[in-house]
Amino acid sequence: MGAGITLADLAAIPIEDVVARVKDRQAPRASALKELGIENALDLLTFYPRRYLDRRLEKSIANVAIGEDVTITGTIRSVLPARRVRSGRSLVEVELEDDTGYVMWLVFFNQPWRDKQLKRGQEVAVFGRVGTYKKRKSMTNPVVDVLGSRREPQTGRIVPLYPASEKSSVSTYQVAHLVRVLLDATDRILDPINPKVRERLGLESRDAAFRKIHRPEDERDYERARRRLAFDELVRIQLPLHQRRLAWEASPGFAHPDPRKDMGSLFYKLLSSLHFQLTEAQSRALDEILSDMARPFPMHRLLQGDVGSGKTVVALLAATAAIEACGQVAFMVPTEVLAEQHFASLSRYARGIYVERSEGLFSSRPLRVELLTSSVPEARRKRVLADLASGLVDIVVGTHSLISEGVEFGRLTFVIIDEQHRFGVEQRAALAKKAGGVVPDVLIMTATPIPRTAALVVYGDLQQSVIDQLPPGRRPVETRWFRGEDKAVKAWEILRREVESGHKAYVVCPAIEDADTSASRSIYEVKRVLERRDLKGIALGVLHGKMKPAEKDRAMADFVAGRTPVLVATTVIEVGIDVPDATVMVVVDADRFGISQLHQLRGRVGRSDLAAYCLLVTKEDVTEDAEERLAALCSTTNGFELAEVDMRIRGTGTLMGTLQRGRSDLRLTDLRRDRDLVEAAREFVTRVVQLDPDLQLPRFALLKQEVESVLGPEKAGYLFKY
Ligand code: ADP
Ligand code: MG
Repeated sequence: MGAGITLADLAAIPIEDVVARVKDRQAPRASALKELGIENALDLLTFYPRRYLDRRLEKSIANVAIGEDVTITGTIRSVLPARRVRSGRSLVEVELEDDTGYVMWLVFFNQPWRDKQLKRGQEVAVFGRVGTYKKRKSMTNPVVDVLGSRREPQTGRIVPLYPASEKSSVSTYQVAHLVRVLLDATDRILDPINPKVRERLGLESRDAAFRKIHRPEDERDYERARRRLAFDELVRIQLPLHQRRLAWEASPGFAHPDPRKDMGSLFYKLLSSLHFQLTEAQSRALDEILSDMARPFPMHRLLQGDVGSGKTVVALLAATAAIEACGQVAFMVPTEVLAEQHFASLSRYARGIYVERSEGLFSSRPLRVELLTSSVPEARRKRVLADLASGLVDIVVGTHSLISEGVEFGRLTFVIIDEQHRFGVEQRAALAKKAGGVVPDVLIMTATPIPRTAALVVYGDLQQSVIDQLPPGRRPVETRWFRGEDKAVKAWEILRREVESGHKAYVVCPAIEDADTSASRSIYEVKRVLERRDLKGIALGVLHGKMKPAEKDRAMADFVAGRTPVLVATTVIEVGIDVPDATVMVVVDADRFGISQLHQLRGRVGRSDLAAYCLLVTKEDVTEDAEERLAALCSTTNGFELAEVDMRIRGTGTLMGTLQRGRSDLRLTDLRRDRDLVEAAREFVTRVVQLDPDLQLPRFALLKQEVESVLGPEKAGYLFKY
């Protein structure tokens, strides 16, 4: 591997050893570093600055104007102990002196701990608006970064600010110094990407990138370093996913001839029985799916599309390819209620459709769809199981127990999975076992769109199809936000009007019982108030996750039959419940829900040609983020647009969900801006894996070692378990 040090080498150096190299009393304690997640030298190097202080442009106290928002760096001259002022708030007053000798006040209200945190002689950077206090310039409740005790001249440079500097006992200078000590003692850090490829992609060497990210000379330095290290992050996440994809595709699979080649096929029978035309987006997705299915290796494809975009029909049309080829189809959904709904709608589509089979006396028989849930009576269940085993059932609908339990298939060749984003290695093995060693084609459907760039990373192991268009003639659900008690009255009026004209309504609350949370209202509390006041005279039902299955069924039945035309519920109704004449969705304390959850809830109404409403009710005051979320919901019904907004608000990290673990974090990657990097990394990874799937070649040894040891075997495994 040549002279130099690898990331794995760095990961093997305990942080204690690094700390021991700092020869003075200013070394941070190893235990304090560990609290920050820094266990070894690699952790330290990837403990990237949170932001940078550009001291080349910095203003001094003397030359800032009142009213200006600025950052000022200075030394604490005095800290007066916390005291109470008349209003009851606590007050800490601090004097800050800058290099020019001018002094300003820092005034902290309701932050009594500041008198312990800030110490005379410490250097800090404060950010805030300049005001006046006791005849001097001042800042009230500024953002503070404790830099620590100065070790070297800092002016005129870019100073990194480390994430710890706000609260922890490790100052930013301590981290910076430790990093410097480490880098000074470190050989060249080896690069898994060869110079030619780097040059083609315009990437910095890794050694330089690590050094510059901690000590950039200017913005350009920083950005080059960031891009290089972000590229590495993306490669480490995508490489195992692509390997997995390749392994999946290398297993033996079923080739399902394209049913569109035969005008007499089930495909056309079904297509012509539909009372509508497929949208362009549906046809495109179907094209992609059918051409995958025609190939002799297993399909592993994700179908993304908003609620109501028509995924189910596409999946069913694809299923005809399997059935035509004498295969069977398993349709798996997350809950039994959903299984029943899907069963009902698939049965409707299947009505009057015949399959050519020479099983009995006749050359054709009706297309057969069956349900397998715990509520199917035992005798019926036995029948279905027997007929599945002998191939007489074409499509079976159920929960994931379809593959985990002792269900035998005659010839399972196609699996549709609704609302599960991932399909684990174990599940795939279980499937192959059901299908006699051959891996069936798998189509995963999700109504939770994620932004395109993020999807490329997170779903790197899946082929993807997107239905980004709703069938024509759909009326978008009218979404309105009611802020404060007074406005809410209007929402309840709309609900009452709809119910009185024979429609149904959902009222969703964040919590079940009063004790759940003090900040939001519970189902029962809301129900009590509505019964007494706003919805007096209307029968209200209740549905939540802690009810017994029989109680839930009864509540749903009463709602569907109109005995209780209003259902007060928790988010249990979020997943796919379909009641076409429900036209109102009121979300109480809507600010407590995330964007995608609200979007899913909204998808429960507007499922017919009736005008539908989504009414978001909140208190007068909501957080800034909540405000942005609710405004976004009101302005668009497009799930992909909302996903972009969600990513903007919450940042990349949370979106990565399960991928966000340990060193596999995307710390420097910004999926909103780094689309080109994502694609470059993807292309790189694809080339590597095509050339050498298991990374056996010497030139990929470093890369292999990194993915395995930097990610850690348990973490690499984690990527695959969802
Ligand atoms: P999804 O599964 O994406 O939520 P569905 O497949 O359940 O959507 O479709 C929602 C409704 O729209 C169903 O009643 C379906 O029959 C209907 N539908 C699907 N595709 C079309 C289309 N192209 N034109 C009109 N209606 C459609
Ligand atoms: Mg659906």
